[in-house]
Parts: sequence; structure tokens; C-alpha cells
Amino acid sequence: MNTASPIKDLSRLCPHTITTKPWPLAKAAQAYSAAGIGGITVWRDAAQAHPDGIAAAGKLCRDSGLQIVSYVRGGFFAAADGAGRQAAIDDNLKIIDEAAELGAPLIVLVCGAVPGQALGESRKQITDGIAAVLPHAAERGIRLGIEPLHPMYADSRSAVNTIGQANDIAIALDSTHVGVTVDVFHVWWDDRLGSEIQRCGEVGKLFSFHICDWRDRPEDMLNDRGLMGEGCIDVPRIRGWVESAGFRGFNEVEIFSNRYWAMDQDEFLARIVEAYRTKS
Ligand code: ZN
Repeated sequence: MNTASPIKDLSRLCPHTITTKPWPLAKAAQAYSAAGIGGITVWRDAAQAHPDGIAAAGKLCRDSGLQIVSYVRGGFFAAADGAGRQAAIDDNLKIIDEAAELGAPLIVLVCGAVPGQALGESRKQITDGIAAVLPHAAERGIRLGIEPLHPMYADSRSAVNTIGQANDIAIALDSTHVGVTVDVFHVWWDDRLGSEIQRCGEVGKLFSFHICDWRDRPEDMLNDRGLMGEGCIDVPRIRGWVESAGFRGFNEVEIFSNRYWAMDQDEFLARIVEAYRTKS
């Protein structure tokens, strides 16, 4: 398959607030908007820290000319006992209300896992947990994106590790409100990635797309993601697959990085824009 055509403008660029974590939401919204960026994905901590509340946080983003793309994150449905699973369901019902209050159409799900529990059992609990909150999500008009995580997180963060597994769960749940979030950091290594992205698009379940890069020998399993072009992920090729599968949404830049959080965030944002224009 072909690489995607070059990116012409920033209208479909959407940083996650965690990417510029040192900035409070108001500063992030102002800076993204001033740079000509079209979207923003709001993390729960950023929304909750907004002094005037979550609804005001949403209004602030829209008033800055930004489209709110996603609310991050729900999930963590797997648990060792029924009380833990019910607590997760209750928390996700609350997250759905928060997303509606914010005005975000989509919640990204980091699905959860329990150290020592069989991954298949965790996937069953995840499927049941999503099913339990789905009616409320549909009622509030919120879509849920199942985001597979790299298998290095299969012990404790997510038992869903491939687009194929996410597709299977989304298809089994059979709702227009459940789909899949493709994050290149988590799935770039998968030799079935192209065909599973295609399958995801064919069934109308390709909900969102996250980009960054995988640095050679990362110093930290969580907080050493790279800018696009800085590592081994062929972002343009994967974007090409996603677009061939019919996706027309935002390219969400999600970078957790102790290195980048330590630098001047205006300078970092300028680097994001440059990497987005030339390496994505
Ligand atoms: Zn992601």
C-alpha cells in the first residue's frame, strides 16, 4: 500500500494535553490555537484541574477555535474481584458524564489487566465492562475507542494488545458507539497491522488515530516516547493505511516524555508542528 500524501496544514493536527503536560489547559488551548492547530484532546487531569470546572474547560477550548477530539481516558475494566470490576464500571459511567460535560465525542479506553490473571480472562472482563457502560454512553452520545496497548503493558495496563483483538471485541459488542483507537506507538510492530486496520475501517470502527515515535532503546517504558521521525515507526505508511481504510479524522499527537516535558514548551510545540509537517 502507498504512503499517505504529504500533510498540507494543521487543521487535522490534535495534540493531547498530556503532550504539553507542564501547561495548564488554558495555556495549552491558547498556544495550540495561536499555532493554527485544529484540535485538542483533553486528558482527565487537565479537565479536572481547570479552575472553573469541566464544562468551562470545554467552552474554553471551543472559544479558542479548537475542536475537542477525545477525552482520555476510561477503561481499566479488569480486576481481581467483582467489587473491583463494579468500581471500574462506576468510574467509567462518571467519565462518560464528564466527556458529555466537556463536549468531547469520544473516550479512549485503556482497557486494563491484572498481574497474574490470564489475558483471555481479562479480555472477557473488559468486554463485559464495556457492555455494562455502553447504554449510558449511547444515551449521552459518547463513543468509546478501544486502544490496544503495546504488549510490554500486558501485565497491568491492558490485555488488549493488537488491533485484531480490539476489532474482535468491538465487533462482538455490536454497537455504533464502540470502535477502535489506533496508536502507532502500541501497534507498529504487528505484522497484521495493515490488514487489521483495513478490517477495522470496513466495519466502520476506526474511531481515532494517535501518532508519535518509538525511540531506539527507550530509557523509560512509559515516558520516553519520541517525536514523529525520531524513531523506527513509519508514521506516514501507517497513516496511509488508516486513510485508505476511510479514516478522515484528526492525527492526534500523544507523547509522554520526561525529556520533552523538561524543555521549554513553546519550543517543543514548534518541534511538534515541524515533525507533523515533515515526518508524519
Ligand atoms: Zn494513544
